Amino acid sequence: MGDSLFADASIRLENAIQHTSLSDDALERLKYPKSALKVSVPVRMDDGSLKIFPGYRVRHDDTRGPTKGGIRFHPNVSIDEVQSLAFWMTFKCAVLDLPYGGGKGGVTVNPKELSPMELERLSRGYIRGIADFIGPDRDIPAPDVYTNARIMGWMMDEFSEIQRSIQPAVITGKPLSMGGSRGRETATAMGAFHVIQTVMKRDRKEPKETTVAIQGFGNAGSILAGLLFDEGYRIVAVSDSRGAVYREEGLHIPSVRQVKNSTRELKAVYCKGSVCEAEEHETISNEELLELDVDIIVPAALENQITGENASRIKARDIYEVANGPTTSEADAILADSGKRVFPDILTNAGGVTVSYFEWVQNREGWYWTESMVNERLRDRMIEETEKVLAVAGEKEIPLRTAAYVHALRRIETATEDRGTRRYFSGR
Ligand code: NAD
Repeated sequence: MGDSLFADASIRLENAIQHTSLSDDALERLKYPKSALKVSVPVRMDDGSLKIFPGYRVRHDDTRGPTKGGIRFHPNVSIDEVQSLAFWMTFKCAVLDLPYGGGKGGVTVNPKELSPMELERLSRGYIRGIADFIGPDRDIPAPDVYTNARIMGWMMDEFSEIQRSIQPAVITGKPLSMGGSRGRETATAMGAFHVIQTVMKRDRKEPKETTVAIQGFGNAGSILAGLLFDEGYRIVAVSDSRGAVYREEGLHIPSVRQVKNSTRELKAVYCKGSVCEAEEHETISNEELLELDVDIIVPAALENQITGENASRIKARDIYEVANGPTTSEADAILADSGKRVFPDILTNAGGVTVSYFEWVQNREGWYWTESMVNERLRDRMIEETEKVLAVAGEKEIPLRTAAYVHALRRIETATEDRGTRRYFSGR
């Protein structure tokens, strides 16, 4: 996956470069990661044996500030994958005008095979391995696939032990009790919600006339489903790894969430008067969900879901990428030809890293914001940058993904120029 991800990421950069006046200096910098570290993490297992897990941390570009990006625990983690994800983060942070460059880290491990204590030893061992590489002004990790607030707490604690001082700003996505931010759990979904609402207002469309299908009912997908439902959207299908439920009249999302949380099963739920009941529902596959005749689809599960194979069967006009990398570049071209709009991951799911930035600011200020302060600032930032990306797309008549990259590249280029470039040194 790493190679194809990186190849795809590079195609997107090339598409965008044609629409910018990017200097050779800026481009040359972006082609290579600034630094990459490989470590071996020794873990004493519960049975007394010793196992070594490979770990990585990559800092792609720090022209705009310290690098920022998650830590992934997954069997497929490789240096190529981590490097691609770090590259993506450089652009995501620039789209939202966060004062960061892009970074990413990971350990090649199946965390489901570890006991909680082995997982803690692995998390602390990884931080001991990369401690000289990270820091509040250098590189700030966060959660990613199969890492969570508790793991971030262990990691912050380990780094603080090494530094002999409490260092909450070294990592974000921590538990509230250890300097986490209010609103972090809901941030990704809320960010996506504001992107959708901004576009709907511009198109003068009403939520109650808009049908939505959401792939993935986890943290991001299920919270977004709730926000859209409360606003009056008709959510006709949602799915998890086992399949999708469909109800043409719309699902009652709060009850679906309740059923899913209590039984781990997705059930179609409807409400009549004040009574909500689970009903015999139509079950469809995840592939069918993406091809439903709805106004909006939201991939919120995995990468590579809309590809050259199924892109021509997508009927929805608008695709909002809450997952990272759900659409391949081959699919992008097919969708653009058929007039579909893809709201790219580097904008749509950037609410998470934006509230991570707020967390870092709060840690450094030592003053903690209320949930409404966090949500208001998130909303303002998401609306402002969505409007800018829409403006670039309109002005240059280019797809939204390319527009988001152009918007990010302009900011990266300004920072590169301000450090002095060939143009500057040759007096031209
Ligand atoms: P999660 O683990 O909470 O949820 C993932 C959901 O996807 C689960 O409901 C799971 O059942 C479902 N799923 C797994 N395989 C599937 C399949 N084959 N088809 C359909 N559904 C499937 O994860 P999350 O935090 O909600 O993240 C989802 C996506 O959003 C990921 O791509 C992640 O990188 C991206 N994202 C999340 C955040 C965040 O803050 N949570 C931030 C940025 C991007």
